[in-house]
Amino acid sequence: MTSTNENVSAFDEVNVFFDRAADRLGLGDGRREMLRTPWRELQVSIPVRMDDGTIKVFAGYRIQHNGARGPYKGGIRYHPEANQDEIRALSSLMTWKTALVEIPFGGAKGGVQCDPTQLSEGELNRLTRRFTANIEHLLGVSRDIPAPDLGTNSQTMAWMMDAYSQIHGHTPAIVTGKPVELGGSVGRDSATGRGVVYVTRETAVDLGMDPTGARVAIQGFGQVGSWTARIAGELGCMVTAVSDVQGGIHNDRGIDVEQLVKYQAEAGTVVGFPGTERITNEELIELDCEILVPAAIDRVIHQDNAPRVKAMVVVEAANHPVTPEADDILNDRGVKVIPDVLVNAGGVVVSYFEWTQNLYQHQWDMTRVNDELNKIMTRAYRSVADRVARDKITHRDASFQIAVERVAHVSRLRGFI
Ligand code: GLU
Repeated sequence: MTSTNENVSAFDEVNVFFDRAADRLGLGDGRREMLRTPWRELQVSIPVRMDDGTIKVFAGYRIQHNGARGPYKGGIRYHPEANQDEIRALSSLMTWKTALVEIPFGGAKGGVQCDPTQLSEGELNRLTRRFTANIEHLLGVSRDIPAPDLGTNSQTMAWMMDAYSQIHGHTPAIVTGKPVELGGSVGRDSATGRGVVYVTRETAVDLGMDPTGARVAIQGFGQVGSWTARIAGELGCMVTAVSDVQGGIHNDRGIDVEQLVKYQAEAGTVVGFPGTERITNEELIELDCEILVPAAIDRVIHQDNAPRVKAMVVVEAANHPVTPEADDILNDRGVKVIPDVLVNAGGVVVSYFEWTQNLYQHQWDMTRVNDELNKIMTRAYRSVADRVARDKITHRDASFQIAVERVAHVSRLRGFI
């Protein structure tokens, strides 16, 4: 999975969308600068004793973009290309995402530049503890609450919680996405994928598209992609292609997703799943299908391949999978793009449920989690769709406008400006 825009700042790209919203809202230069700029950025170095006895030093970041609406919230990613600019871009997306779905958080993101697939469990544990110790002074249950992201999972959150609790006493609400046995919420694992499916359902209604039998191609088969694939069946959709870092698979008559999950657990990849033909990640983007779901890394749809996208709708389950140039090309071609800040918000919404459950020491059941998630995602989709209809703008522009408006409004109420 490669993107062609590695030398272009991801933060600048996301701000193309922000600026468009700020223009339409008539925000002056000062206010715009205030809303665009991260409030706090911390870079740390993380020395880790490796299993072979050597010491390696990793770069880590926590960027708190905006806390006007509540404590900072956002994931921690472990990825070889995690860098300050990317984390900055992702932290700003969290600010707009939490505002759009109206949960009481600001936006943040963190990351460590490392390849988690090349580290042992012991190395990952030590890395996570040292990273937590180095950013601990920024965290707090009403200050900043991390969660999993690309390359991290519930185990990483358990280590973070433990490292924080060693200093502050037992503090489950300090991270979300924890194992259920340690105060995690049921339904958190599947939450982002479930939210993707709820938003797809609402989009199909709006477009007058019957989801039954609609062909869905999903790039990425990690937490987000695999749950999206599993839950898509509830709409009657047919998953015809999926991929992971090793490549993709395709069968136009549909893939048995539950069997594929079992296959992947053993083989470590989706590639080679019986009854499918092998395709590349690049081919998946250009596949003949109705719904294309990029659910892996950023900037996989760019100006070079956007003209060849054949789907009717692109549902952005990953963060920032479509560059601004590609976004314009898709819009001009009549391909609907449903943006990341709306589509993948289910994860942080159930993180919010987890945090509240921790604060009042209670546990919800799966039905309650999924029902409340459905309510919030549907409400957010409807507010975006209303704005699209009212102002004749794209779903992305409508989403950014609503979000920026809300953050600007509370900034005024709090008396920042
Ligand atoms: N990493 C996820 C995201 O990008 C979830 C963040 C959270 O739950 O705080 O939305």
